Amino acid sequence: MNLKRKFWSGNNRFRLMLTLDLAVMLPAAALIYVNFAHLKAIRRDKVLEAAFHRDFQEMLAISEKKINRKIYTMTEEVRDLFPSPDTGTESDKGRRLDLILSKSPWVSHVFLFDHEKGLLFRSQPQQMSDRYFCEEHERLAEMFGGWLGMEAKMMVEGMHKRNRLITFYPDQVKRAGSYSYMTTAFFCLPQLSKDRAVLGGFSFDPNYLKQTFFPEMLEELIAHKLTEGGGNQLAMMVYPADYEGGNGDKVLAASAGWTEGKPEVSRNLDDVFRGLTLGIKYQGTSVEALGRRWVQRSFLILGVLSVLLIGGLVLTYHNVSKEVALARLKSDFVSNVSHELRTPLSLIRLYAETLELGRITTQEKAEEYYRIIRKESERLTALINNILDFSRIEAGRKEYDFRETNIAELVRNTLDAYRYQIEEQGFTFEQSIDSSIPTVRVDREAIGRSLVNLVNNALKYSADEKFLGVKLYRADGVLKLEVVDRGIGIARGEQSKIFEKFYRTCDPLVHNTKGSGLGLSLVRHIAQAHGGEVEVESAPGKGSKFTLSLPLAGATRQPANEASSGATAS
Ligand code: ADP
Repeated sequence: MNLKRKFWSGNNRFRLMLTLDLAVMLPAAALIYVNFAHLKAIRRDKVLEAAFHRDFQEMLAISEKKINRKIYTMTEEVRDLFPSPDTGTESDKGRRLDLILSKSPWVSHVFLFDHEKGLLFRSQPQQMSDRYFCEEHERLAEMFGGWLGMEAKMMVEGMHKRNRLITFYPDQVKRAGSYSYMTTAFFCLPQLSKDRAVLGGFSFDPNYLKQTFFPEMLEELIAHKLTEGGGNQLAMMVYPADYEGGNGDKVLAASAGWTEGKPEVSRNLDDVFRGLTLGIKYQGTSVEALGRRWVQRSFLILGVLSVLLIGGLVLTYHNVSKEVALARLKSDFVSNVSHELRTPLSLIRLYAETLELGRITTQEKAEEYYRIIRKESERLTALINNILDFSRIEAGRKEYDFRETNIAELVRNTLDAYRYQIEEQGFTFEQSIDSSIPTVRVDREAIGRSLVNLVNNALKYSADEKFLGVKLYRADGVLKLEVVDRGIGIARGEQSKIFEKFYRTCDPLVHNTKGSGLGLSLVRHIAQAHGGEVEVESAPGKGSKFTLSLPLAGATRQPANEASSGATAS
């Protein structure tokens, strides 16, 4: 029977393990493994960095488009101010060009070329005092004159063919001793037919580009990007395509956040600003560092989640196996209790029937039978009281009736009722009761039942050496009730478990002894309800000492009877 039960409980445990492993552990482990592998792949293949770079590329392409759109709009606005080559005298046209220069201080040179009438070339008058500007004026006027003379017709045709009536030419000019980037717009006048070799144009002032246009444009681009919600602040820079870092002077413009370092991604500009490069990066950090941080954080989160998951599983396993064990204990309990009920009942019936039949001849024998019937019914009552108490406790309905009690008297009376049984079973009985203990507020029935349970256990679980000691004394403001035996004892590992409901130790003597596994759990509940505790000291084969400690705080008065301890032996 025992073996079978063990097998089934082992089987239950195995099923539980299997379910947990298959249904939870395996998918969880797979999930954790896949995620770790995934993160590792992300780190190895620099997936994040690539994604950031793609983003940057896209941003740069959009930025170039925005820069170009702005330049085109500005160019179109200037073009709209251009005089028609067919109305007015040459000096009228010259005045119109001068007007453009005065209206748009960001224009360095402005010109109108008509194949028939030649080149009208004007430059910002207030800058003509600058030697380099003056030289630039001379050089460009001469160059454009000659060049357009030869190329204008083809250029106009080409621009019409490509349907792009504006085109730009980059140039390097010397201003205040250093070279600067300048771009010049050439355009066809839209109101003219495409076979007229007429071209207008103007140069963007290099200082304007460097000091105003690019800085403003970069800030605007970054501000726009920020509103789109990137966590890290961006920085952008414009520099010559052949710039390899180092000499910061050559950088054309950089946004406020650009402190140092190379751009993360760069894009060579085409069309309007050919020869320039637009670079982008994060302020104060690099994409690599960001990627690394992200991967590290993900690893950490995954690690913490894994630990939580494993912790949860262990906890679940622990709880479920506890439930399984409890279920087993409960089924043991039912069979134990039924067994315990059956034995006294059949004894009572047997002796009662014998008495009824009148077969008993001697008075002594009859008295013995009566005593057996009384003893067995007392045992039944005790068992049923235990079960009732237990069910009340389980349902949370157990109520205690605390009253001022002379505890020494209570203990003495309870033991007296048992004295005969103790001695009859051949036990040496020692009792030491400190009668000077003040009255305490306790539930008499509950404390009496605790003592009965402890004494019963001592009697039940003693084999060779039959000794029972009961001691009631005070120690450090605590009331102690000790029940000592020299019986089979309890293994250390089981000492905490015996106070759990239904628990019975594995000792063979315990299995052959009737019991429900409820007694000690009741004792503990009662002790705790009184603000106290019950403890055990025990060594297998040597015996056990159960100590019920109750606080003396509720002590109110000294009992009238101050008699000291008494000891009895048999
Ligand atoms: P029961 O005695 O009905 O089995 P208890 O709750 O009173 O239930 O005790 C629980 C278990 O603790 C017992 O089954 C026994 O294994 C162990 N035990 C209790 N008292 C003693 C004792 N004095 N000596 C040895 N073992 C004990």
